[in-house]
Amino acid sequence: QQTVYDDNNIFAKMLNGDIPYHKVYEDDKTLAFMDIMPQAKGHVLVIPKQKAIDLAGLEPEYAAAVLMTCKKVMRAQRQVFEREGIIQMQLNGAQAGQTVFHYHVHLIPSSIHELGRH
Ligand code: 5GP
Repeated sequence: QQTVYDDNNIFAKMLNGDIPYHKVYEDDKTLAFMDIMPQAKGHVLVIPKQKAIDLAGLEPEYAAAVLMTCKKVMRAQRQVFEREGIIQMQLNGAQAGQTVFHYHVHLIPSSIHELGRH
């Protein structure tokens, strides 16, 4: 379990411009990009430009900014995929299944009944 933020985590490297990714949206406080192993077509991740491991360490201004970016991404997903159903998912801690220890929100055009079957 991660207790100190690791500056070399994969999302930190993206924010530093050290590794490539498919950008969906960016502003001064957030970044959204395509998940490399999508659980459904159009699976997007939204991250804050803050060194937060999980929800516990997320500052209020970044929490608000992440949610506003999630709204934008979801609106685009609804248009592009012509579906209402979008899952917003966010894992805290290795026990919950978190694998990248920079806070991130999943936005997945899917259904809870179909998740895991893709
Ligand atoms: P977690 O299980 O921590 O909530 O989700 C981490 C997510 O990051 C996974 O869905 C995984 O596919 C995604 N991921 C891991 N490494 C990379 C990467 O190098 N690039 C991108 N775009 N996504 C990644």
